[in-house]
Amino acid sequence: MSDDQSVRSTPRTVGILGGMSSQSTVEYYRLIDEGINDVLGGHNAGELLIRSVNFAEIEGYIDTEQWDEAAAYLSDAARSLEMGGADVVIMATNTMHKVAPQITEALSIPFLHIVDVAADAIHAAGIDTVGVLGTRATMEGEFYRGRFEDHGIDVVVPNHAEREDVDRIIFEELTRGEVRDESRERYLDVIDSLTAAGAEGIVLGCTEIELLVEQDDRLGVPMFDTTALHVERAVEYSLATEDTVQNGR
Ligand code: GLU
Repeated sequence: MSDDQSVRSTPRTVGILGGMSSQSTVEYYRLIDEGINDVLGGHNAGELLIRSVNFAEIEGYIDTEQWDEAAAYLSDAARSLEMGGADVVIMATNTMHKVAPQITEALSIPFLHIVDVAADAIHAAGIDTVGVLGTRATMEGEFYRGRFEDHGIDVVVPNHAEREDVDRIIFEELTRGEVRDESRERYLDVIDSLTAAGAEGIVLGCTEIELLVEQDDRLGVPMFDTTALHVERAVEYSLATEDTVQNGR
């Protein structure tokens, strides 16, 4: 047990809105437990609630751009986390942050936005232009680019053909748990194009990309793994004493 007075000995309950896909949700679960255990030691682990949605529903909403329906579906799921006792909600996907404003509105507990967390890490690295890899909706969406711009960070995205491949590999492979060497090579080529286009760092802006690409694959270009950063913030929040809590909104 940690005797550090700056952390709580009983973690706050983190609600994970997951299932988008479950491949990354299990990583969130594992990494949050690991993060809490690193600080508190012993058999300590996270206090967690997971509300895992049906990914087929989500894929359908993305394909047909039914964002209002997606917002209603995910807001209900987020509310069930709050009603179940969560102190904070994190949503384990970048793409569905498209409807983060509606989810935040539906909650009376904090929601830790994945872009805000990534932006803090980018600032800490001292850079202000990043390449983004993610689903088509993320790479092309104003909700993502605009929020980085609000933080003073410029975004470059792959060209059309590259975006098609990056998106296809996420939906056809990574969200199904398939990790292929040729897809990793494709991603590394796209990362090279992004750095040639001025990106000083790369946002792995899909919570499954860390299953395919990691920092060691391209040393010299900082990579911002949104899953790892989001988990780190959730652990900090869970263990922060009242005095140090910042509302995540
Ligand atoms: N998990 C992915 C993301 O971070 C993609 C799946 C989804 O569409 O939610 O965007």
